[in-house]
Amino acid sequence: MLETPAAVTRASWADIAACYDELMARPIDATTVEAWLEAWSRLEEAVSEAISSAMIEYTRDTADEAKQAAQRRLVIEIAPKAEEKSVALAAKFARLGWTRPGLEQMTARFRRAIEIFREENVPLTSALEEAATEYQGLTGGFMADWDGEKKPLPHLAPFLQSPDRTIRERAFHGMVGPYVAARDQMASLFDRQYELRQRVAANAGFADYQAYAFASKCRFDYTPGDCAEFHRSVEAVVVPAIERLHAVRRRSLGLERLRPWDLNVTPYRDEPLRPFKTGTELAVKAGRLFDQLDPALADQFGIMTREGLLDLDSRKGKAPGGYCDTLHHRGRPFIFMNAAGVIEDVQTLLHEAGHAFHAFASDAKPLIWQRHPTAESAELASMSMELLAAPLLDAPGAFLSPRDAAIARLEHFEDALITLAHVASIDAFQTWIYTDPSGRDGVARDRAWLRIRARFERAVDWTGLEAERIGRWYRQLHVFLYPFYDIEYGIAQIGALQVWQNYRRDPADALARYRDFLSLGATASLPELYRAAGAELVFDADRMAPLVAAVEEELARLRAVVG
Ligand SMILES: [Zn+2]
Repeated sequence: MLETPAAVTRASWADIAACYDELMARPIDATTVEAWLEAWSRLEEAVSEAISSAMIEYTRDTADEAKQAAQRRLVIEIAPKAEEKSVALAAKFARLGWTRPGLEQMTARFRRAIEIFREENVPLTSALEEAATEYQGLTGGFMADWDGEKKPLPHLAPFLQSPDRTIRERAFHGMVGPYVAARDQMASLFDRQYELRQRVAANAGFADYQAYAFASKCRFDYTPGDCAEFHRSVEAVVVPAIERLHAVRRRSLGLERLRPWDLNVTPYRDEPLRPFKTGTELAVKAGRLFDQLDPALADQFGIMTREGLLDLDSRKGKAPGGYCDTLHHRGRPFIFMNAAGVIEDVQTLLHEAGHAFHAFASDAKPLIWQRHPTAESAELASMSMELLAAPLLDAPGAFLSPRDAAIARLEHFEDALITLAHVASIDAFQTWIYTDPSGRDGVARDRAWLRIRARFERAVDWTGLEAERIGRWYRQLHVFLYPFYDIEYGIAQIGALQVWQNYRRDPADALARYRDFLSLGATASLPELYRAAGAELVFDADRMAPLVAAVEEELARLRAVVG
């Protein structure tokens, strides 16, 4: 048996396959099945950590050929084959017809994985991984010309906040330009992904890839119809609130019309907030903030700092974006991001730290399948942490003065509303792509994006910027890498706003519930997990409206503090 991630990394596929085959051959009955599950879980921990580590190392340095080769071998070749072996073991487990309390969710997810598994999809999954790697390599290499210097795109983020409008406009074009220039290349990459995904869905007996995605993501508790209602609710309730806050922004900035480069500058300060300079400083200050929030969480963050589990600074060759991955063998999370010294980086770190705390809390569950809930719950952990930690941005030794912290919170709440509209637009767009026959056509996709985006993004003037507005969806990493992974953010944001309301009423109780929810890992259903955190799943405008109203009240209060 391969006991460690290092052993898996060194092993040939034949050696890894032999471990799965040994488990497959081992007879199981009601008295031996738990030991068998534990042995299987240990193997999955080693395999999953080997794959995660290869992925992490590659995203830290996309230009390193050895890391790229290791990533390709583990993620593209081995992971889909290992997945096939896992599904066979899940089927063996399901045939036994045995379960016990605490394993219901695992059993349901196993059944679903078996139902949708098709052998002919294994090479298609590898081809999809290959296309995803291509997207990361391509976008990781995007550079902007800035004052005669080539800069990675995340390095332009601070200039989008410049009080000088011409600098903001240049930064906007610098960041969007490479996507506009690569539009045709990215459109044909997406053509490939589209065809592969629709074939995967058809092979598994689904009408389209959206239906397949609902099944493969184990969305047991809501439907595409609920998501369409979510889009309509956001359009009815959130979009008008965004129009109101954009009107305030426009007046504060003294502008006739808001252009896309006017959305990141703060109207409340002469200079943008610069809460830290280096990744090290970001980690130290975040550590102080967590000290004030909760000693146990602060301890966990301290472990991450000491054990080198944070890679925060942006640098050349790093893949874009931010994520938190779990190293299941070590029982540790890893946080990756591209910090450039802006306040959004602090929000990102708080967000990823929420995922990390979730990983720490659920590591106590003995089996790997009991730890990671579906994304709606994972993002509830991270988005709630953003809101729970926000009142401590001005804690002693943390990031900001009280007035600046109020500005940061104001902009964070504005961003929460804008994000809801954004995810609704992305989800509605992907729904269209995979359910309308025109979704296969690159030009039709761009047109549909403009039409759908206009429903959710009003009050911003994109005149003369059609190519740039189209470029926005090509920048949406999830559409290429993790299709339909966006509505979860919307569902979770609405959940997190409920946790925030509980926190305002009773901080200790809200935090205790939050930690209970984290420690459940994946052992309860989605509605049960939300209930544990003190929230519920909301798709309808009736229940969304009071939450949006509470945010607007808080915005008014914070504006009064900021003056
Ligand atoms: Zn997240």
